[in-house]
Amino acid sequence: MAATTPRTALAWEYSPAPEATDHIRLRDRYELYVDGAWRPPESGVYEATINPATEAPLAEVAQAGNADVDAAVAAARAALPRWQKLPALERGKYVFRIARLIQERARELAIVESLDGGKPIRESRDVDIPLAAAHFFYYAGWADKLAYGLAGRAAEPMGVVGQIVPWNFPLLMAAWKLAPALACGNTAVLKPAETTPLTALLLAEIMQEAELPAGVVNILPGDGSTGAALVRHPDIDKIAFTGSTGVGKDIQAATAGRDIGLTLELGGKSANIVFDDAAIDQAVEGIVNGIFFNQGHVCCAGSRLLLQESVAEEVIEKLWQRMGRLRVGDPLDKNTDVGAINSAAQLQRIEALVDAGEREGATRRTVACTLPERGYWFPPTLFTDVAPAHRIAVDEIFGPVVSVLTFRTQAEAVEKANASAYGLAAGVWTDKGSRALAVARALKAGVVWQNTYNQFDPTSPFGGYKESGFGREGGAAGLRPYVRIR
Ligand code: NAD
Repeated sequence: MAATTPRTALAWEYSPAPEATDHIRLRDRYELYVDGAWRPPESGVYEATINPATEAPLAEVAQAGNADVDAAVAAARAALPRWQKLPALERGKYVFRIARLIQERARELAIVESLDGGKPIRESRDVDIPLAAAHFFYYAGWADKLAYGLAGRAAEPMGVVGQIVPWNFPLLMAAWKLAPALACGNTAVLKPAETTPLTALLLAEIMQEAELPAGVVNILPGDGSTGAALVRHPDIDKIAFTGSTGVGKDIQAATAGRDIGLTLELGGKSANIVFDDAAIDQAVEGIVNGIFFNQGHVCCAGSRLLLQESVAEEVIEKLWQRMGRLRVGDPLDKNTDVGAINSAAQLQRIEALVDAGEREGATRRTVACTLPERGYWFPPTLFTDVAPAHRIAVDEIFGPVVSVLTFRTQAEAVEKANASAYGLAAGVWTDKGSRALAVARALKAGVVWQNTYNQFDPTSPFGGYKESGFGREGGAAGLRPYVRIR
C-alpha cells in the first residue's frame, strides 16, 4: 500500500529561477557525422528527440544503419595512419583544444543536456559539463607521457574503436570514451543513446571547430541495432560499452573469439552503509545525493541503503523529512533537485519495480508533490521493511527509489552488501577510520566512497566487478584498454 504523506509545508517558497533558453540554436535536423562532414543516413530515417519534461520535440536526428556504420568505420580506418604518426604532443594539443571548446560552450551544452535528458540544470551545469571538459584536459596531458602511464612498457594504439554510451550522462560518457581513445592514438566511432543524441552532435561541431582531422571521430546516432552493427563490424579493434548488463552480455557473446579489446561498464545495485557511529545528518545528505542525484539514473546510485539497527529509525525519519524538501519539477529551474524521468519506457520500468516492491510486502512512502501535467515524472520514494530477496533489493531500478535494509554487525553489513550480482560502487558512513578501511577492503565494489557519495574525478579509475562489467575508465588505468602492449 502506498503510504503517501503530505509534503511538509515549507516556511517560504522559492521564486522560479528558470535558465534562459533563447540563445540556444538547435538545428531542425541533425545528420550523421562521418569523415569530418555531415552526411544523411542511407536509410533516410530520422527520429525526433524529445524533451522528457514537456514531451515537445527538440530536433530530428538521423538514424545510422549498416551502410552508415560501414562508412564511419572506413573513415576511422583511413584516418588512423596519419593520426598515429602525429607526434604525441600534437595529438595532445587537439584533445586540449576540445576541452577548451567544451568550456567555451559550457552553458549551451548544459542547457541542451537538460532539455534532451530531463536532468536538473544545476547538475548538468555543475557536474556533467565541467567533468566532461576535465576528462579531455586530463587525457590531453597523458598523450605524450604514455610510457609513464603504462609503467614503461612499449605500447601501440588498439586502432579503430567502437564506443557505445547510455542516456544518463550523455556528454560525460562520450568524454570518458573519446578522451583516452584519442590521447592513445586511436580513431573512433561513437554511438550516443537514442533518447539523448544532441550533446554528442554538438560535440561533433566542436570536433570540427577544433579542426580535428577528418575521420578521427565519427558520431552515429541510432538505436540498439546501430550499436549491434558496430559491435559486429569486422574492422573494429576494440569495443567500449557503457549500458545495461543485458546488452553487455550480448556484446560479450558477439565479440567472443575475435581478437578485439572489450570493456564493459554495466549496471549496479550499490550499497550505501551507515554505521551507528556515523555523523547522521551528514549521512542523510549523502544518502540523498547517492540516490536522488540525476533522478537515480546513475549506474552507481546508492539504491540499497544498509542501516545499522540501532540508528535505523532515526536515519529513516531524518531522510523522510529531507526528502519532503526536495524540489521536483522543471529541469531548467536552477532550484530543482529532481528533474524528469528520461523517457516513457524508463518511467514504466520504474513503476513496474515499485509495484513489485509493494506486492512483495515492503512499505512504500512516496513524497507528495505537484507534478507537471506533461512529461515523465516519478516522485522520490522510500521503501522500508525490505527483505534481501525482494526485487527492489535485487534489481537495478534506475530511478529515484531507495530500498532500506538493516544489519546488526559489521560482518553482516559486508555480507549483505556483497550479496548482489553487481559490484560497481558502495558508500561507508562511520567515524572510525579503521572500520572504514576494513569494510572498504571487504566490499566487492569497484569504487568505495567513505563519508561521501557520487564523487567523480578524471584522475580516479571507475568500473565494476561481477555483473557490473570489467575494465576501468579514468586515471592512468583508463589508458590501458586503449593500447596493445608490445
Ligand atoms: P542500454 O544497454 O539499453 O543502452 C546503452 C546503449 O547501448 C545505447 O546507446 C543503446 O542504443 C545501445 N544498445 C542497445 N542494444 C544494443 C545492442 N544489442 N548492441 C549494441 N548496442 C546496443 O542501457 P541504457 O538503458 O541506455 O542505460 C542504462 C544502463 O546503463 C543502466 O543499467 C546503467 O547502470 C548503465 N550504466 C552504467 C555505467 C557504468 O559506468 N557502469 C554508467 C552509466 C550507465
